[in-house]
Amino acid sequence: MKTRDEWEKASSSLSFDGRAVIGGKRVATEKTSEDISPVTAKSLADVSECGQREVDQAVASSRAAFENGWSRMSPGARKAALQNLSGLILANADELALLDVLDMGKPISDATTIDIPGSAAILNFYAEAIDKVSGEIPVTDPGNVALVRRVPLGVVGAVVPWNYPLEMAIWKLGPALAAGNAVVLKPAEQSPLSSLRLAELALEAGLPEGTLNVVTGQGETTGAAIGLHPDIDVLTFTGSTQVGKYFMKYSGESNMKQVWLECGGKSPNLVFADTANLEEAAEFAARAIFFNQGEVCSANSRLLVERSIAEQFTELVVAQAKLVKLGNPLDPATTMGPLVDRTQTGRVADFITNGSGGAQLAHGGNRLTIDGSDCYVEPTIFANVSTSSSIATDEIFGPVLSVIPFETEAEAISIANNSIYGLAASVWTSNLSRAHRVSDALHAGTVSVNTVDALGMNIPFGGFKQSGFGRDLSLHALDKFTGLKTTWIRYE
Ligand code: NAD
Repeated sequence: MKTRDEWEKASSSLSFDGRAVIGGKRVATEKTSEDISPVTAKSLADVSECGQREVDQAVASSRAAFENGWSRMSPGARKAALQNLSGLILANADELALLDVLDMGKPISDATTIDIPGSAAILNFYAEAIDKVSGEIPVTDPGNVALVRRVPLGVVGAVVPWNYPLEMAIWKLGPALAAGNAVVLKPAEQSPLSSLRLAELALEAGLPEGTLNVVTGQGETTGAAIGLHPDIDVLTFTGSTQVGKYFMKYSGESNMKQVWLECGGKSPNLVFADTANLEEAAEFAARAIFFNQGEVCSANSRLLVERSIAEQFTELVVAQAKLVKLGNPLDPATTMGPLVDRTQTGRVADFITNGSGGAQLAHGGNRLTIDGSDCYVEPTIFANVSTSSSIATDEIFGPVLSVIPFETEAEAISIANNSIYGLAASVWTSNLSRAHRVSDALHAGTVSVNTVDALGMNIPFGGFKQSGFGRDLSLHALDKFTGLKTTWIRYE
């Protein structure tokens, strides 16, 4: 692993290109915006503000690539191109890691060990799937044969957030491209650089021009133009619940494009007094909220603890919070960097100041300035939080943990399920029956038992309720980007 000095040096020798990539070329726009790093508080690049004209060009270019290029290539050739891209991600790992770190503040040690290798592996998983997922031949009357094939849908619009800039893009691109679609990708305005670089690597890997176009810009303009576009067939989104609802509206107002949403969460972590190893549970509970600065959709931000151990367990989690190394994310020892920008930092600080409903501040709570950036928030824990306070109900998307005591299993389930969200949940117990009973009762796409935030690229990820619908990862993700097409032949 490089030292901080080496990472600083590597980042100062990087060149940042904020121009959109459309039809295989970098495209400058009349309007640009500054991409401010939360690490340096300085602008990294002027980034294209793509308007209707650029979005139209990108969609037309993706349509042409879909019709004449990508979907007509042999499965083997598409597989090879995606595997090349996976390899190029690894070959350019340091650069891609730095782009994400500088754009949104995650620790370099996480970017290099999780985001970048994870992105390469997921892309490779979908490349491998290309020639392993087949159609079906259902039973028909004699003299007939019905061929049911999975066909690509055409042009996919992918709109993604800033918390895992490259990886969230890959979660969409992997299955969409493997299925044979072309994609217009819009990264978040806070973190466009790795997606733009990825589009260049895609060309180098052998994806035909236009198969992956990257348009940058604001949500209300560029994002809306994608959502409303009459020639986009499918829209896949990760981001907030509020914006997810806009995409459903955009679809209804335009061409009824399919919409798949991975949205917010307020995931509960239930710790029962019969947990075998409370120290371990506390370590995981801290990781589940402080990892990636708490900017994780499935962050376990509500810690529900059986009252008999609530005080003791809170102390154990506070001890874990004290081990978090908050600092410049280019230092490999740092485990928590700055939040993505000043707006998000202000939002999180406001929850801490005004949202606790009088709960006891057990740890942290301060906003700090480090190396000229005031986007740092200490790992923060509130004890004895009331279920009606906003820190207990709202998605904060920052390092703020609300500890809520409960008396009975039924009460724990009721508190856990009393949320508009249903993305993830965790349960800690040594009682096998309880583990099954409580997991069954929780409204969550993934329930982790005696662990937190269990995730695997071959396991579906996504939520219920206002956390969205449709699943990312696994072979199930291919369902979102394919349609079932039947050819029925009567041959006698
Ligand atoms: P956001 O919803 O503000 O933005 C996400 C994307 O939508 C960005 O690209 C943005 O430019 C675009 N957008 C914003 N307003 C738009 C509009 N009016 N029309 C069209 N597009 C628009 O979310 P964010 O702040 O970037 O990310 C944080 C949110 O993402 C959190 O709510 C988090 O839970 C969620 N998230 C969910 C998952 C998941 O898999 N469920 C994963 C990561 C993040």
